[in-house]
Amino acid sequence: MTVKKKAAQPNDMPDWSEYRGVLVVVEQRDGVAKSVSWQLLGIGRKLAEKLEVETIALVMGHGVGHLAEEAIQRGADKVYICDDPVLSVYRTRPYSRVCLQLIRDIKPEIVLMGATYTGRDLAGAIATHLPTGLTADTTQLDVEPHPSRLLLASRPAFSEKMVATILCKQYRPQMATARAGVFEALPRDPSRKGEIIPITCEMKEEEIAARVLDFIQDEKRVNLEDADVIVAGGRGLGGPGPFRLLKELADALGGVVGASRAAVDAGWIGHEHQVGQTGHTVRPKLYIAVGISGAVQHLVGMQNADVIVAINKDPDAPIFKVAHFGVVGDLFQIVPALTEEVKKRRG
Ligand code: FAD
Repeated sequence: MTVKKKAAQPNDMPDWSEYRGVLVVVEQRDGVAKSVSWQLLGIGRKLAEKLEVETIALVMGHGVGHLAEEAIQRGADKVYICDDPVLSVYRTRPYSRVCLQLIRDIKPEIVLMGATYTGRDLAGAIATHLPTGLTADTTQLDVEPHPSRLLLASRPAFSEKMVATILCKQYRPQMATARAGVFEALPRDPSRKGEIIPITCEMKEEEIAARVLDFIQDEKRVNLEDADVIVAGGRGLGGPGPFRLLKELADALGGVVGASRAAVDAGWIGHEHQVGQTGHTVRPKLYIAVGISGAVQHLVGMQNADVIVAINKDPDAPIFKVAHFGVVGDLFQIVPALTEEVKKRRG
């Protein structure tokens, strides 16, 4: 594979002027988009506006036409859709083939994907084939304006002790995956207009070695990123048992259970529940922090929640500085009472 480079510009960067536009790859499962995809369209649109280029989305799957419409309502100017039975479940080869073909055809300067299991797999495969650089797990994205037009992709580094901003000067497109919950999705605007362009999948089923026989749901898996309500517990719970109280409240509210790192490190609950710098970044409608002090490493993972309720016996706990509603008191009295009240009101 050769990378076409024209004469170097004064700033020692190749001339990438044929690469324009910000491409967001929309991830879906069973026709339901991952919320991180719409969050990426939100930030992608901001970057595109700064660069004065189009925001482009790619939707892949089978029976996913509705997602192309939604991508426009969420900020895309143009949506490429590849709707084919071969793409009905995610497999690296056909999905990467479609992406690679589109990227080679339309030459976007930036490609963004969610830092999900699928996004990480797909982004790595594409970056290797193109080839280009990929910044994984970004938490901040910005661009330098013309002429450099560089993507400033920032992510925690050195055991999360500092934030590194990574540039890709010598290759195009510039690629990044981004954590869910970090960026804000644009509200759906049904009046937005855009162009939907169908593209074909060149790969036939018989060319693909991998077959998906079945999906077995991991009972322990918790989808914090897409949850509207999270009830999170910390060291204040004093042990694994009281997480049952949190689960009852979460169930009553239709939510899931989260945790601070202190609770996870103590072995009271699995790491898949951890919220914060080294856990999940979440953006629920309601976040209830129970027995969590509000260390900065926890706050970075949940402070973008629409409504934060803190329950803590220490009135000076830092969590109250970010909480919209605070309850000072013993969680063992407050949580069961709250659960009972929610159940009563919900019938
Ligand atoms: P504590 O700070 O001990 O707070 C317990 C709280 O419970 C106290 O405020 C106390 O008043 C309250 N409490 C006690 N009993 C009761 C009761 N009966 N009723 C009501 N309230 C009660 N932390 C994370 O959460 N997520 C991360 O991703 C993360 N990443 C980190 C990365 C690095 C590099 C480092 C150095 C640290 C990280 N931490 C992370 C750890 C973080 O610094 C804190 O140590 C941790 O968040 C504290 O957890 P906590 O609030 O549960 O415990």
